Parts: sequence; structure tokens; C-alpha cells
Amino acid sequence: MSRQYYIAGNWKMHKTRSEAAELTKSLVEGLKDGKHKYLIAPPFTALETVGAIVRGTNIRLGAQDAAAEEQGAHTGEVSVLMLKDLGVQSIILGHSERRHTYKEDDALINKKVKLALKYGFEVILCVGETLEERECGQAEVVCENQVLWGFAGVPKDALANIVIAYEPVWAIGTGKTATPEDADAIHAYIRKVIGRLYGADAADRIVIQYGGSVKPENVTQLMAKENIDGALVGGASLKADAFLPIAKFA
Ligand code: PEP
Repeated sequence: MSRQYYIAGNWKMHKTRSEAAELTKSLVEGLKDGKHKYLIAPPFTALETVGAIVRGTNIRLGAQDAAAEEQGAHTGEVSVLMLKDLGVQSIILGHSERRHTYKEDDALINKKVKLALKYGFEVILCVGETLEERECGQAEVVCENQVLWGFAGVPKDALANIVIAYEPVWAIGTGKTATPEDADAIHAYIRKVIGRLYGADAADRIVIQYGGSVKPENVTQLMAKENIDGALVGGASLKADAFLPIAKFA
């Protein structure tokens, strides 16, 4: 198994350009000898600023979403063409806040996934169950359906550009973390679904991040699990002194 750990920070709707620049400079300095793969996803308005600072470093530039259309009458949306122009390399799609607060459905997310892949972006596809779904014993089936929808029409040769982030909705921004065992069980299940769709080699290669209140105190136990290949970090990615120890976990 040759999967590389991949630690990503999702800044959500935080940071003006000057705040973003300050944090980015600290991360570039702090991660210059980091051993894992890294990404930060600032808000759209800070992409250019952050992009100029991370260019040529080991930190990838990510966007938190993209429109499902290339261009046109879509007030408030940002297209993959615009993100390409800014040097964005990866796009987070299907984040639970997009799914639940902004009512994005699986069909829309799948359209975005295919468009992003068409333009050569890496996609981080987020999946995860709500607390209610978990309590009804539906965590696996919910994640399975989100994966099946997300990957619909995606050919095997595009898989190298897709990462899955398992983010139980009840653990996002709540301080509650899935136990490493519970998270690993869902990761293993998702890997099985990928195996069914694309074969055992694809299942072995796909990187599956965990997201949901990852902190310096819990990152090592989570990453020690066989099927957990990295983290998508929200709250703790907003400060260098929280994100750096996560990103540099041993
Ligand atoms: C996220 O929003 O992707 C996330 C995991 O947030 P937090 O780390 O704050 O739970």
C-alpha cells in the first residue's frame, strides 16, 4: 500500500486577504520540511493572495466549491475556468455545509465532480451521515449512496485525481470526533464500495481523509488506523499553532 497521508485545511468563510496571507506564510515556513501531502482551501476572495504565497511550495491551493456550469447567468457562482485562472489545483465538493445548509443534492454534486475532473482539478469529495442517520444504523448506506452518486460516470483513469473525505456531519465543528475505530470502519466500507466499482487496485490506492473535529490531540490515533489516509480540517486549520502539529503528526 503506497498511499500518502494528505492533510487539508478548509478555512470556510474565514480570513480577509491580509489575515490569509499571514496564516499562509506561517504554514509555508512550518511545513517546508513536512513529510505529507498538504492543501489549504481559503475563501474565493483570498485565493489569489494565498496562491501567490504557496506557489512553488509543498502546499496545494484548494477551492471550497465550484459551480456546476462553466459560465453563464449564474449570479454568485464561481466557475472552474476562474479557479484555473487563479492557479487552483484542487476543489472540495459535496461538503456537508453545501449539502445540508445550501441543499446541494447528489446529482448537482456529481455534475460538479465531472466538470472539475474535465478541467484537470483534483477533487476532494466529501461524504458523511447525519447523527439521525447514524442512530438509525444508516451510516454505511448513506455514505455508499453519496459515493455511488459522486462517482457516477467517472472513469477509472480519473480516480488518481479523486480523494474522498469521510466527514460525519455530527462531528463537524461540534468538538465531537468519531472514534478512530468507528471512522476506520466507515473508511473500510467506502474502500469496499470503490473496490466493487473499480476493482481492488483502485480501492487500495484511493486516499480517504477523515474530517470532523480533528485536533492536535486526536490526529495521531486517527491516522494510525489502516484505512484513514489523512484529514480534512476545519476549525483547527485557522491557526498555525493548531494546524501545524496536525499536519506534521508523526
Ligand atoms: C470540515 O468542515 O470539513 C471540518 C472537518 O470541520 P471541523 O474540523 O471544524 O470539524
